Amino acid sequence: MLSLRRVAKRFEGTAALRGVDLEVTAGETVVLIGPSGCGKSTLLRLMIGLIAPDEGTVAFGGEVLERAKLSLLRRRMGYVIQSGGLFPHLTARANAALQARHLGRERPWIERRIDELAELTHLPREVLGRYPLELSGGQRQRVSLMRALMLDPDVLLLDEPLGALDPMIRADLQRDLREIFRRLAKTVVLVTHDLAEASYFSRRMVLLDRGRVVQQGSYRELLESPADDFVRRFIQAQRHAEEG
Ligand code: ADP
Ligand code: MG
Repeated sequence: MLSLRRVAKRFEGTAALRGVDLEVTAGETVVLIGPSGCGKSTLLRLMIGLIAPDEGTVAFGGEVLERAKLSLLRRRMGYVIQSGGLFPHLTARANAALQARHLGRERPWIERRIDELAELTHLPREVLGRYPLELSGGQRQRVSLMRALMLDPDVLLLDEPLGALDPMIRADLQRDLREIFRRLAKTVVLVTHDLAEASYFSRRMVLLDRGRVVQQGSYRELLESPADDFVRRFIQAQRHAEEG
């Protein structure tokens, strides 16, 4: 479904990604994990074509992401970011419907789809008329997810979607998200810097360090046979953080 070959990306001379190879198969959930600045968001933005690689290729459904094909291919991808990225001057409903409106979908179709998605994401119907500032952090992320799912994309890309939420709301949304991923059976790429969250979502984690993939596997595999000292330290640090 998504295929990255020898992908490199630099920003003003600093290497954000260096020779990344990655395959994401249709229907699987893959978690990208690693410390802040290791290149997780850059990798996601390359997958959705928001930025182009300096070297290597990114392909989606067998087609290399090229400028000319981008707007069509991007309709088949849903993207959720940490802050939600909702337009503040539009209601929740209008935010979710924006792209469908833009593509000329009929109002009844849009209304039906919003009903379905509010139910799926457990967003209370009565908040659909509110503006983002009038929503809780968890509700904002649910609206953001509705927007991403509106056109029934093949792939869902989520960049630390739970990162800004407090622990209880986070746990609720974590559980709902996992249920949604299972129910929809979509291809999902989820970014987190939290190991417990990563293993909650998938048995396949891709661990990055300074722009490189250092190891792929389950939590257990990383724990029992770390590829290098970085992997060992990354796991240690997270365990300490959890034990407080
Ligand atoms: P992560 O999401 O893992 O925290 P990022 O992908 O955001 O990491 O960033 C990887 C590296 O690239 C960092 O060193 C970051 O400062 C740099 N970087 C990312 N985006 C830009 C940008 N638009 N301009 C300059 N540097 C950037
Ligand atoms: Mg990031």
